[in-house]
Amino acid sequence: MTIVLGADAAGIAEAAALLRRGALVAFGTETVYGLGADATDADAVARVFAAKGRPRFNPLICHYPDAGSAFRDVVPTDAAGRLAERFWPGPLTIVLRRSLHSAVALLTGAGLDTLAVRVPAGETSRTLLRAVGQPVAAPSANRSGAVSPTTARHVLSGLSGRIEAVLDSGPCPVGVESTVLDLTGELPVLLRPGGVPLEAIEAVAGQVARAGHAADSPRSPGLLPSHYAPGLPVRLDAVSVAANEALLAFGPPLAGAGLVFNLSADGDPTEAASRLFEGLRWLDEQGAARGLQRIAAMPVSERGLGLAVADRLRRAAGPR
Ligand code: AMP
Ligand code: MG
Repeated sequence: MTIVLGADAAGIAEAAALLRRGALVAFGTETVYGLGADATDADAVARVFAAKGRPRFNPLICHYPDAGSAFRDVVPTDAAGRLAERFWPGPLTIVLRRSLHSAVALLTGAGLDTLAVRVPAGETSRTLLRAVGQPVAAPSANRSGAVSPTTARHVLSGLSGRIEAVLDSGPCPVGVESTVLDLTGELPVLLRPGGVPLEAIEAVAGQVARAGHAADSPRSPGLLPSHYAPGLPVRLDAVSVAANEALLAFGPPLAGAGLVFNLSADGDPTEAASRLFEGLRWLDEQGAARGLQRIAAMPVSERGLGLAVADRLRRAAGPR
């Protein structure tokens, strides 16, 4: 059952309490309805991917009530500061290096060392974000492949029964998604056109490259074959483990491994998703420290989020 909450003080307080408990709550922003989860809670974020039926772990945008809180999770640049000053709160998302101290779950950023952050406009969403007191990861609140919802009714038509609640703040005034700008390279790169026009961004940040056009620019992560590549090579579909390998297990681990990270002892693909990036990084660090040469990954069930886990493992094992 998905409950509909009104955008009054009681409804917002209830939505915030649900989010703090790890529940999924869709809420209206000025752009489209977002499917919110506590960005620091990997289980909740895994359930976002499951509810949307996303075939892949795209990195999610983290939402904040103000620039000060957004900039605590990333390493801001001068351009980021100027853009935030001019366009926040508003429909601009900026991608920056993730701060080392950030508590945002690795799954939220799909294992990248960058993070997309935004301060949405709209009193309801900002009051909600202030009340949650944690960054809220929120992709558009639709099933994967469907159009983005701009009313609570649209949200329910796709996600009813799959999420705990929707906070109904009425129709979204902008109606298209935020502009996504990558500020991690030499030039800003437009990853997605959206609510803030390119010309307005260029007036503040100077020349902006289009994704795919700049010679040496970071591109949208979904386009990269090796999306998150650990330092140690990954061997897929392991049915045995060698002495020089660390084991990424799913279900009962293979015998003989010295260093094991189990994605899910019970073979639960949603749990595996929530632990995947953490596991790869941990095996990478610990494995390298022990002189191991490779990560052997057991096959993961392709049920539910297992498909996305398998996709990410294939990319991690892909050509460098
Ligand atoms: P949606 O989840 O539908 O709001 O879309 C989010 C958009 O932001 C996608 O196009 C993502 O690829 C992009 N995005 C989020 N985080 C990052 C990141 N760390 N680096 C590059 N793009 C990102
Ligand atoms: Mg979307």
